[in-house]
Amino acid sequence: MIVVLKKESPKTQVENLIEWLESQKVGVHISEGEFSTVLGLIGDTASVDEHLLEGLEIVESVMRVSEPFKNANRKFHPEDTVIDIADHKIGGGNFQFIAGPCSVESHDQVLEIAEGVHKSGANFLRGGAFKPRTSPYDFQGLKAEGIEILLEAKEKTGMPIVTEIMSAAHLPLFENVDVIQVGARNMQNFDMLKELGRTNKPILLKRGLANTYKELLMSAEYIMSGGNENIILCERGIRTFETYTRNTLDIQAVTVLKELSHLPVIIDPSHAGGMSRLVKPMAMAAAAAGADGLMIEVHNNPSKALCDGAQSLTPAQFDDLTKNVRKILNALNEN
Ligand code: PEP
Ligand code: MN
Repeated sequence: MIVVLKKESPKTQVENLIEWLESQKVGVHISEGEFSTVLGLIGDTASVDEHLLEGLEIVESVMRVSEPFKNANRKFHPEDTVIDIADHKIGGGNFQFIAGPCSVESHDQVLEIAEGVHKSGANFLRGGAFKPRTSPYDFQGLKAEGIEILLEAKEKTGMPIVTEIMSAAHLPLFENVDVIQVGARNMQNFDMLKELGRTNKPILLKRGLANTYKELLMSAEYIMSGGNENIILCERGIRTFETYTRNTLDIQAVTVLKELSHLPVIIDPSHAGGMSRLVKPMAMAAAAAGADGLMIEVHNNPSKALCDGAQSLTPAQFDDLTKNVRKILNALNEN
């Protein structure tokens, strides 16, 4: 249920209302916007009499929210969420480039790529230390050592780092990681999502290969219901009947997710098409659709990459991509 309060309602009356609602055993999520204050009621609201609320002097309107995702719902939080990570904002009109290799392979590889993408204006460095591979015989990542390498690159370049977690048991290793990625395959690892909800780390939550928008938002809800509201949603391609490309990029996810939720939405075109030549045009399309950022795989020697070489851009190709995406962003800002 959401309760929209009248503008300039007296503070004490608002506080009394919140206290009363909490005494009814419902959680109250307060969203103070520029134009109105919205109270989002979470939990068993069946016993709350909406007509009684509507009759209160400070209440503008009351609505029952039918969607099962509450914290992630735009109705509960009409304004875009803006997440500030080491002074880099994402969401609410702030666009960010996250770039780096699929996997951390060596110190020199990561440092070279980090410096390259940083020069082109990437503000976040990505790199997988724990790799979810389809085959157990493929490279599984450098694990703790990989995180150490990313932290060195962060120290050298000043770029915050984004890296994937595959088990909540590894959380202590992520203490200095800026953004924890939940990969497509773990989107519904509910126990891990609950653990991440108890941290205060920004979470980049990727949509599963065959998951709906609502399932993605329910996964965000698992994290948010634990108290962690810093979530970035990521569309990375879904599985369809088309087999020519690795996955099919669902650009409309940007619009739909932003309608349904206030959370920032980014696009990963690298895992979508699986081919480097598709990355730039899809990145431009994502920016045109209103995405809040892009996550791009970049490798200094794609043909030798231990993972996802075919979809990786060289630093020079990434530089060209950023220039073209900026043209789109500038064109959007002119309107
Ligand atoms: C990745 O980002 O390297 C990755 C494994 O992505 P996804 O979970 O989207 O497949
Ligand atoms: Mn990859």
